[in-house]
Amino acid sequence: MSHLRPGETPERTPLCLPTHRPHPRVRAGLTIAALIASGGTIAGAATATAAPAATTARTAGALSAIVAPRSAAAKRQWNLAGLGYLSYAGVDGVVGSATKAATERFQSDQCLAADGIAGPTTNAKLAAVMRSVQAKVGVAQDGQNGPNTRTAIANWQRRNGLAADGMAGPATFAKMGLPRTCSPPPTQRPQPIPNVYADSSNVSCYRGTRNLGVHDGYSQGTRIRVRLCAVPGFKSSSEESTPGSRYYIPGADGDAVVNSRVSGPFSALYQLARSERVPMSASSTFRTMAHQKALCDANAACRQGDYSWVAQPGHSGHQLGVAVDYAGISGKGGRTCSSRVRVPANATWRFLEANARSFGIKQYSAEAWHWDAFPLANRC
Ligand SMILES: [Zn+2]
Repeated sequence: MSHLRPGETPERTPLCLPTHRPHPRVRAGLTIAALIASGGTIAGAATATAAPAATTARTAGALSAIVAPRSAAAKRQWNLAGLGYLSYAGVDGVVGSATKAATERFQSDQCLAADGIAGPTTNAKLAAVMRSVQAKVGVAQDGQNGPNTRTAIANWQRRNGLAADGMAGPATFAKMGLPRTCSPPPTQRPQPIPNVYADSSNVSCYRGTRNLGVHDGYSQGTRIRVRLCAVPGFKSSSEESTPGSRYYIPGADGDAVVNSRVSGPFSALYQLARSERVPMSASSTFRTMAHQKALCDANAACRQGDYSWVAQPGHSGHQLGVAVDYAGISGKGGRTCSSRVRVPANATWRFLEANARSFGIKQYSAEAWHWDAFPLANRC
């Protein structure tokens, strides 16, 4: 079964295949001209290690990976390189893992869903950010990096005491006085869709999250239908997210899996954490009944009806998909908010404490790592 997401292009396949491939000598000539215009250096064998995905598309003996900004893929790569997200050696007109990762970093910085797929929104944002750089370095503001813009960026960097690599990375942005990352305004922070206990099969996955279809969930002991959504980039080590594991939810592909009613807040919270460079991953998100039963069976107290440590099967917020256990946070507290556990030494917890409530997500008083969308008195 394909792991491709809707709209995704298979890796290592050029986005725009030219109907006629120019003779290698002509291609090499173009490359050299581009290099001379840009003041760059010829990247030879080393480029192959910088962009392994590109090697398959290259003919043996080709001089360099750098291609002119003509195809959609090459244009995107030039802009990613010009903004410091991709090395120029990786500009080969082929979308591979390096380009996808660079696109994800750019999307994350711009508060877009970090899925690595360059749709119209991402391309428009790339062009807009490139225009702001072009304005600073005094070239035509067409939103497309190319040899001229690259040279102008390098010249500007040289004049400003920066490494003249033609890549406007974080240091260059700071010197230019341009914002490189965004924060969503508080007024736009998505909230849980009301009635988190109810069937969510008719609730859509929040924009940027992946619809994994309708599954069996449990709400207060009763089986209900829940639409599950994967949050791209928000990694979870849970078995439901791990391909090949017993409880795997097809399509999760390593990402956190949540109920569609809370896919907005959990994904926006993750995007905000990324933009603030706060580490955030999950150890458990949605949990199947089989998994919850296995957890209970493995816990002596739970087997005997004491659910202080492991929730009664059918009653865990994880079985409804509205709870997330954040990785790297530990600490047990009391059963009320006055005796709640706090771990201010933990950067992820500090971030959650400062921001989660504005997304309608709260901490369970007894567990510093467990945050959910239940309107309960011991959610703090
Ligand atoms: Zn939990």
